[in-house]
Amino acid sequence: MEHEAVLVPLAMMNALAYCPRRFVYEFVQGEMLLNEHVVEGSLLHEGVDAGGRVWRDEAVQERRVYVWSERLGLVGYCDVVEECEGLRYPVEYKKGKPNRWRNDHVQLCAQAMCLEERSGGSIGRGEIFYFSVRRREEVVFSAELRAEVERLAVEAHRLASGGGLPPPLEQRAKCRECSLQPLCLPDEVRLLGGVGVEGRGGEARGGRGGRGGEEGRVVLWETWLEEGTG
Ligand code: SF4
Repeated sequence: MEHEAVLVPLAMMNALAYCPRRFVYEFVQGEMLLNEHVVEGSLLHEGVDAGGRVWRDEAVQERRVYVWSERLGLVGYCDVVEECEGLRYPVEYKKGKPNRWRNDHVQLCAQAMCLEERSGGSIGRGEIFYFSVRRREEVVFSAELRAEVERLAVEAHRLASGGGLPPPLEQRAKCRECSLQPLCLPDEVRLLGGVGVEGRGGEARGGRGGRGGEEGRVVLWETWLEEGTG
């Protein structure tokens, strides 16, 4: 792969693993909506963002470590690179709690692959500390997870070089947790595109005249459509 023009930040690999549309908004278009969760996350991060080297029990921690991969075209920071009992591995700090989407796992594995490229060694696992539950989760860098990082790195460069804005996700549970929802307007875009809006009962309803989900907003767009085409 040739990545001379663009290096994709590791944090954006997290966004891409969560939602390709989110990646394009944040990385390609530079859109970022601040809410209380985003600000709180930045404040919680201040400790590791300060950098430096500290001891934690039997481990040595190097904070805010700059890493990159020429092969994958990625660049960014590991919150912490920890060394303990002869093993060296990345540790990522997250405001929330463990989720089922694996986007945090992708980001951490991408960090490990960058570290491997820099050091020449192999890293089998890393850890994510979630502030909400105040515990670490172990992440094993399996062949499957590494393949997902490789695939997403290629996809990141495709989207960054004019791949367009992907459609909203069909996984509405992700949209409900997404800070970009007020900008993205996934329900409205689906409705205008005739994709359909999923109702409260989970049933997909089609195109113009469809109702469900956040009903007030849907009706608003329905009215607009009728006025515009009547
Ligand atoms: S609201 Fe949904 S479709 Fe839009 S960027 Fe967020 S996750 Fe993606």
